[in-house]
Parts: sequence; C-alpha cells; structure tokens
Amino acid sequence: MSEGKLVIFSAPSGAGKTTIVTHLLSLGLNFGFSISATTRKPRGSEQHGKEYYFLTTEEFKDKINRNEFLEWEEVYPGCFYGTLKSEVERISKNGQNILFDIDVVGGSNIKKFYGEKALAVFVQAPSIAELKNRLLSRSTDHPEVIDARIAKAELEMSYVHFFDIVIINDKLEDALCEAEEKVVRFLGATS
Ligand code: ADP
Ligand code: 5GP
Repeated sequence: MSEGKLVIFSAPSGAGKTTIVTHLLSLGLNFGFSISATTRKPRGSEQHGKEYYFLTTEEFKDKINRNEFLEWEEVYPGCFYGTLKSEVERISKNGQNILFDIDVVGGSNIKKFYGEKALAVFVQAPSIAELKNRLLSRSTDHPEVIDARIAKAELEMSYVHFFDIVIINDKLEDALCEAEEKVVRFLGATS
C-alpha cells in the first residue's frame, strides 16, 4: 500500500508531538503529512485539509461503514479521529515518505501493520504535571477538555513498549535534535 517509509509520532496530548512533527516537516526530508479526519472542531487557525479533515460525526461514521479508514479511534468520548486509506495513497503516489501524528493506539496499530517499514516514536513529557502546564499554556482547549486529556495520559503511557524509540521532550531544542537525528538515520537505512 505504501512504497516509501513511514514515521509515526504518538504521545499523550501536550507532550509536544505536533511541535516535533512541524519541525521535521520543515527539513526537506521528502515527507508528506498524513492529514487525519476528525470530528473535533478546528482550533485557532486550523484549516480543513491542512491540519485535519474536519467532518461531522455522521460523515465520519459513513466513512467507517464504507471501510475508508486504515485505522480510526474514538480518542476521547464522542471525539473520533482516523487515518484515511486515501491519505496513504495520495502521499505514496507523490513518491514521499509518510509522517503521522496520531494517538498511541492508532500509532501502535500502524506499526504492527507496516513492521520494519515504519519507525514508531513515542514522545514523553518529563511529568504529568508538565503535560498539564503545556496544555494550559497552549490555551487551545477548555478546562474540562484538558482534564479529560490528562486523565487519559497514564493509560496512554502504558503503550510505550509498542514503540521503537522514546524521546523525552524536556528541553525542546534537545528533543528536536534527537528526533531529527533518529528520523534521518531511519530514512537513510536500506530496508
Ligand atoms: P501535542 O501535539 O503532543 O499535543 P504540542 O506540540 O501541541 O503537543 O505541544 C503542547 C504545548 O507545549 C504547545 O504550546 C508547545 O508549544 C509546548 N511545548 C512543546 N514542547 C515543549 C517543551 N519542551 N517545553 C515547553 N513547552 C513545550
Ligand atoms: P488533537 O485534538 O490534540 O489534535 O489530537 C488528539 C489526539 O488524537 C492526539 O493524540 C492525536 O495524535 C490523535 N490523532 C490525530 N489524528 C489521529 C488519527 O488519524 N488516528 C488516531 N488514532 N489518532 C489521531
């Protein structure tokens, strides 16, 4: 289904995976970003077809019934996210590697499916308290949404052993360097 390589970034919300993924996309590593579908509302300047395909729950469920997802999860109660098969095809047709920013369950499923063709990276914040600080200072979610995300973080941490590597995102500069180094090495290796 995909000729290039796949790199998956997963983490509890607030650990910093979107920050790291955005950095990697700026490096000219021939990555296409897998734009997920979601039923959550756009945040800030997010645009349909850029960060996400924003769908209604009905549209999302239609796509589930038509078997259009490679994987999907109800990541938070009533809030669906999924990777469309058409995204993987679109990026592969462009001859690009694929970069995913998805939750720990979706990430471990894609790793299982693609095996050695995929590098699965688990991003960890130094502590749950720091996760909460980051979500609060990001100022994009209501307090009850932040609480739901923090409540899920401990369970999400238990998925770490399904991943190839762990990056502790304490000092951002160091985490960006480590991510860059590991990803460049993986892309350069013959498989
Ligand atoms: P995620 O995509 O995992 O939910 P984000 O990349 O959106 O996380 O990061 C959450 C917030 O924390 C953002 O406001 C981001 O700028 C900030 N952040 C990311 N990494 C660090 C870090 N190492 N130290 C402090 N703040 C950070
Ligand atoms: P956010 O609402 O902060 O953008 O994302 C919430 C969570 O959903 C994050 O862990 C994010 O990585 C995850 N997510 C985004 N897209 C997908 C997807 O396609 N599939 C799955 N399983 N999770 C996703």
